[in-house]
Amino acid sequence: MKKKPIFVTEPYLPPLNDFIPYLEEIWSNKILTNGGPFHQKLEEALCEYLDVEHISLFTNGTLALVTALQALRITGEVITTPYSFVATAHALLWNGVKPIFVDIDPSTLNLDPQKIEAAITPQTTAILPVHCYGRPCDVDEIQKIADKYNLRVIYDAAHAFGVRCHCGSVLKHGDLSVLSFHATKVFNTFEGGAIVCPDKKTKDRIDHLKNFGFVDEVTVVAPGINGKMSEFNAALGLLQLKSIDEVIEFRGRIDSLYRAHLSNVPGVTCLIKSDAISPNYSYFPILISEEYPLTRDQLFLKLRATEIYARRYFYPLISEFSMYRGLPSARPGNLSSATTASNSVICLPIYPNLPDEQVLRICDVIKSIN
Ligand SMILES: *Cc1c(COP(=O)(O)O)cnc(C)c1O
Repeated sequence: MKKKPIFVTEPYLPPLNDFIPYLEEIWSNKILTNGGPFHQKLEEALCEYLDVEHISLFTNGTLALVTALQALRITGEVITTPYSFVATAHALLWNGVKPIFVDIDPSTLNLDPQKIEAAITPQTTAILPVHCYGRPCDVDEIQKIADKYNLRVIYDAAHAFGVRCHCGSVLKHGDLSVLSFHATKVFNTFEGGAIVCPDKKTKDRIDHLKNFGFVDEVTVVAPGINGKMSEFNAALGLLQLKSIDEVIEFRGRIDSLYRAHLSNVPGVTCLIKSDAISPNYSYFPILISEEYPLTRDQLFLKLRATEIYARRYFYPLISEFSMYRGLPSARPGNLSSATTASNSVICLPIYPNLPDEQVLRICDVIKSIN
């Protein structure tokens, strides 16, 4: 029997028929974008589901990140992590801001708060941490530093949809949090994103910035971008939201299966469990050490050979790409934990419809030494 290829993720899609009524509504009211009824309904539904005050929907997470920085008028230098998807740092370059890379904590793979202060200069205006794999950053420590130096904090929360930590939604921390609803994320609208903000005034400014800077028909207040989510994507979001709890529950089951079957494999470490009250199991990273008979890349290729398409998130580090590697903070010596993690990580497949047998097959490939 031919094995079906297994990708690192596969989007969850409700039955097509369930989407037809939404399409009929769009076709009948003929509102396609510009903050139509589905856009408004999804903003309200997400505020409720995520337990946040205000949300502004976007075409994608990257434009949301770019706009979040513009909304707070961030300039100069911003402290961020090299261990993320490249869009995190690109958003800084799009704002003419210089990224300052700071190393990660080797146990959580999030920005290490202990290392932040040493990187602060008179030009520093903000910190842009990532809740990597949906695991909450040390939000209290980061806020303490931000308060001490009068810095803004913008969280790249692209992995952290629905995650709750000790004080409720993790998205309430910092000045702004940015979500991605890309097809590969826990909650998707095919393409999409959002900014979570604490007050109406900030939401209004963000709503203007995502619509070219228009405040009314004849007034433009800033060189805003076109970042508006369409009615089609917003309708998809409303449909997807109905099954999100099941989706996260199913991911949790796979997370436990991997942990049970990989916990005693020499040289293989599952990243420590999230300390979130409700995690979202958005990725399943393992770290391969020298004790393992193969190198990380050999294991990666071995998995490929049996059509298991795991991914090396995050390799290379952002700081290794050509537009960043000349920065003084990009030196590997400055980023030793990030460099080690990047050279040893593999993210294993995790998604709602991944059968248990396949999870066990993946574990068997990792455990078999030949
Ligand atoms: C997916 C992702 C983004 C970008 O989001 P898009 O919606 O694809 O533009 C940004 N940061 C991180 C950490 C991501 O994983």
